[in-house]
Amino acid sequence: MTAYDPDNIFAKILRGEFSCYKVYEDDHVLAFLDIMPRSPGHTLVIPKTPARNIFDITAEDYGHVARAAHKIAAAAKLAFKADGMTIAQYSEAAGGQVVFHLHMHVMPRHDNVGLLPPASRKEDPKVLEDNATKLIAALESLP
Ligand code: AMP
Repeated sequence: MTAYDPDNIFAKILRGEFSCYKVYEDDHVLAFLDIMPRSPGHTLVIPKTPARNIFDITAEDYGHVARAAHKIAAAAKLAFKADGMTIAQYSEAAGGQVVFHLHMHVMPRHDNVGLLPPASRKEDPKVLEDNATKLIAALESLP
């Protein structure tokens, strides 16, 4: 497998070299909005450890990502009045991966509304700011 590339865009976000719409952070993970959301509130959860995808992350670090995705899904259901949630993780190009730092997609879903195709349009920054604010408030309201 190709080695981890420390210059990928999510590594730059982790180092603060590139901005993001952050919604959650702890010692192990960072979560931020996807700037080309496939549904309103589409969020990405990434480990702070440098892992390319499912094939090189440890089970423990993957557990941290999954735990954070679980929390974000609960908050996103509230924040976006979602009827459902789609959680996805793509590994390697053959698996649909485009950015090679492991990430889990958390995509709020509504009845009878399909996902947009990947990277189909860049969201308006104001919408992303509003959605980040809503999601942060919902995260803070969780027990
Ligand atoms: P994947 O196919 O799982 O590798 O998906 C990569 C995701 O990253 C896509 O949904 C992109 O819209 C998203 N993305 C790419 N660049 C950025 C960025 N700078 N900030 C937030 N999301 C991004």
